[in-house]
Amino acid sequence: KEIVPKDSNVAKIKVVVRKRPLNKKELARKEDDIVTVHENAYLTVHEPKVKVDLTAYVEKHEFCFDAVLDEHVSNDEVYRATVKPIIPTIFERTKATCFAYGQTGSGKTFTMKPLPLRAVEDIVHLLRQPYYRNQRFRLWLSYFEIYGGKLFDLLSERRKLCMREDGRQQVCIVGLQEFEVSDVQIVKEFIEKGNAARSTGSTGANEESSRSHAILQLAIKKHKEVKETKRHNENTESRDGKVVGKISFIDLAGSERGADTTDNDRQTRIEGAEINKSLLALKECIRALDNDQIHIPFRGSKLTEVLRDSFVGNSRTVMISCISPNAGSCEHTLNTLRYADRVK
Ligand code: ADP
Ligand code: MG
Repeated sequence: KEIVPKDSNVAKIKVVVRKRPLNKKELARKEDDIVTVHENAYLTVHEPKVKVDLTAYVEKHEFCFDAVLDEHVSNDEVYRATVKPIIPTIFERTKATCFAYGQTGSGKTFTMKPLPLRAVEDIVHLLRQPYYRNQRFRLWLSYFEIYGGKLFDLLSERRKLCMREDGRQQVCIVGLQEFEVSDVQIVKEFIEKGNAARSTGSTGANEESSRSHAILQLAIKKHKEVKETKRHNENTESRDGKVVGKISFIDLAGSERGADTTDNDRQTRIEGAEINKSLLALKECIRALDNDQIHIPFRGSKLTEVLRDSFVGNSRTVMISCISPNAGSCEHTLNTLRYADRVK
């Protein structure tokens, strides 16, 4: 019998733009803020241009999305405008995904980091309601990254993982550690551990993490009655549970990295090509979802293959496009907005 999600009126795909404030460096350079956020989910980008005769002028670009959040909007408000409404649906067989897209430094990690914490608060609250408590639902967390088309477990010494399909459109990531979580503090520790493990590459530079997609998943599982004595074997136990629904938080690679395809360094070129491929494939999959297409082109990249089960059946997708407001980022900002525009 089909269970209708309680919040089936929540939009299937939502595209939200978040503008960050000018940072200290940009202020010190006296850079202009070229992004104006209007009411009614509108924004204007004032692109500084110069004519051949060297006279300066401004070209205006207008965009409209489901919501546009300006630099005064708090992380809590971001949560309420994006993830909060879809939380109840994951108790009712929905696979939800929340992406942060944008150039490096635009605020993706700043935006994504607190969202799973707030989500766990709400999930734990719902789990305590008598209706769900009686169904033996439990919450599981995993955290991994996709780097150069390969999967690594961020909660287990970056162990290399591989993916398998079980023939029933279910994706299985072999060896991925899952941890049962029941309070926010533990989740915070897992996120910090995972973030510290994020790819630092051969140079050890922190900015290498902008070349990977980080995927944090919270899964609601329904468990058979198990005796507490088996608790130590977490992996077996987690497989005993059947996934009811889940939500994935994805901090995407810096969108400008997809353009690193002419770099002198071979490795950088390969990674750039992979990022480019995955961001294009993601856009195509979301568009296909939006058009209710039967065929979802998830085979286009590792990222979309991993997310395969989130693109079929009951799904909810939130895309948070992060933009920098400074004139120097104009080209990247326009690229991000055009990408977001194409998704809808
Ligand atoms: P990304 O992950 O896209 O590379 P970050 O999230 O690391 O970017 O953000 C870059 C810097 O800008 C960080 O120092 C972060 O704290 C700051 N920042 C980003 N968004 C905001 C915001 N909305 N308000 C205040 N500071 C922000
Ligand atoms: Mg980041």
